[in-house]
Amino acid sequence: MTKSLILILGDQLTRNLKPLDLGDKSSDVVLMLEVQEEATYVKHHKKKIVFLFSAMRHFAKALENEGWDVDYVALDDQENLGNFNDEVRRALDRHTPERLVMTEPGEFRVREMINSWPDAFGIPVDIMADHRFIASHDEFRGWADGRKQLRMEYFYRLMRRKTGLLMNNEGEPEGGKWNFDSENRKPPKGEMSFPTPLKVKPDAITQEVINLVGERFSDHFGDLEPFWFGVTEADAKKAFDVFIDAALPKFGDYQDAMLEDQRFLYHAVISHYINAGLLNPLDVCQHIADEYTAGRVPLNAAEGFIRQIIGWREYVRGIYWLKMPGYLDQNFFGASKSLPDFYWTADTQMACLRAAVTQTKEEAYAHHIQRLMITGNFALIMGVDPKQVHEWYLAVYADAYEWVEL
Ligand SMILES: Cc1cc2nc3c(=O)[nH]c(=O)nc-3n(C[C@H](O)[C@H](O)[C@H](O)COP(=O)(O)OP(=O)(O)OC[C@H]3O[C@@H](n4cnc5c(N)ncnc54)[C@H](O)[C@@H]3O)c2cc1C
Repeated sequence: MTKSLILILGDQLTRNLKPLDLGDKSSDVVLMLEVQEEATYVKHHKKKIVFLFSAMRHFAKALENEGWDVDYVALDDQENLGNFNDEVRRALDRHTPERLVMTEPGEFRVREMINSWPDAFGIPVDIMADHRFIASHDEFRGWADGRKQLRMEYFYRLMRRKTGLLMNNEGEPEGGKWNFDSENRKPPKGEMSFPTPLKVKPDAITQEVINLVGERFSDHFGDLEPFWFGVTEADAKKAFDVFIDAALPKFGDYQDAMLEDQRFLYHAVISHYINAGLLNPLDVCQHIADEYTAGRVPLNAAEGFIRQIIGWREYVRGIYWLKMPGYLDQNFFGASKSLPDFYWTADTQMACLRAAVTQTKEEAYAHHIQRLMITGNFALIMGVDPKQVHEWYLAVYADAYEWVEL
C-alpha cells in the first residue's frame, strides 16, 4: 500500500524539496499532473506551456531513473479530467495513500484550493515549506511588521547578512557599500559584441509536447517555434555557465541598457529555469560570488546580479504573500482603461513598444528594462486597469507566476 502520495507541481522540478528528502522510494508514489485548467486560466504563451510540460516530463523520467515510482498524468491521457481537484481525487482512488504530501505552492489561488483537500478528500495533507526561497513567510512578516515603509534595500541587507554573500570577514559588505546600482547604468556605445544565450535543440519528448501544444493551444499568444529553451537541470546549468563566461563580466555595467536590435544584451535569461526549479537561486548566487572572489568579474556585476535574486526576487515574493488576497484587487490610481490591442499584435507605430511586444511574442522573454520601462511604464501612464496588465504579464513570459509578477 502507498504510504504517502507526493504531489509535485509544475514549478517544483527539483530534488531540493522536503517531501522528496523525507520520502521513501519503497512505499511512496510521486504524482505529477498536466492539467488543462492550469494552462488556460490565463492563455499562457505557447512556449511557456511547452517549456513547463516538457520540463515536467523530463523531471518525471529522471525521478523514475532514480528509483521513484512516478504516476504521471499527461495532458492527452484519455481519462485526464483537466483540473487539480478531480485529478488528485482520481489519484487518491488509485493509490489509497495514508496521506498526501507536497511542497507549498507559489500562488495563493492554488494554496486556497489545497487547503480544502483534507475536508474534501478526507485525508491528511502535509504542506511543507518551499526551501528554495531564502526567507520564510514568517521571516518576511517579522521584518515587515511595524515598519512604516517596506524598502527593498533594507530587506536586501538582511538577506546579505543571512546568506553571507559578498560579505567580508568583518561582517561588512564587500567594497564598503551594499549597493552598486549607480554603476549599473552605462549606455551601450560604439562597437560592442553581445553573447547569445544557450539554445537547446528540442529532443523527442520536447517535440511531442510542441506538437501537442500546437494542436491544443493554437489560439494562445506567441510563436511556438523555434523552441530553444532547455528543459532539464543539466540544460539549465549549461545555460547558466554560458552566461557566466560570456555575459556576467558586463552584466553590471549594462544592466539598465536597452537596444532595439539586441534582445538579451548581457542578461542571464535564466529566470524561467530558476522559477521552475531547474536552477537553485542560492546556488546561482554563490557561484556568482565565487566568480567575484576569484577575480573574474567586477563587484558591480556580482552585486548587481545577487541583488536581483536575494533582494528583489525574495522581496516581491514576501510582499505577495503578505498582501494577498487583497493585493490582486489593488488599484491605487483607479485606472480603468483596457489594455491596447497592440500588446498582443505589436501593431503600433511606437518603435520601443513594437520591438518589446514582437520579441515577447517570439521568445516568451523580454529583459527587465523592456518590462519595466516600456510595457509597464506605458500601461501606467495610459491608465490601464492593473488587473489586465497583470494578466498580460502572467500570460506572455515563460518565467511568469503570480507571486513574482503581480
Ligand atoms: C512588470 C514586470 C514584470 C515582471 N515579471 C516577472 C515574472 O513574471 N517572472 C520573473 O521571474 N521576473 C519578472 N520580472 C523581473 C525581471 O524582469 C525578470 O526576472 C528578468 O527580466 C528575467 O530575465 P533574466 O533571467 O535575463 O534576468 P537578469 O536580468 O539576468 O537577472 C538575473 C535574475 O535575477 C532575478 N530578477 C531580476 N530582476 C528581478 C525582479 N525585479 N524581480 C524578481 N526577480 C528578478 C531573476 O531570477 C533573473 O533571472 C518582472 C519585472 C517587471 C518590471
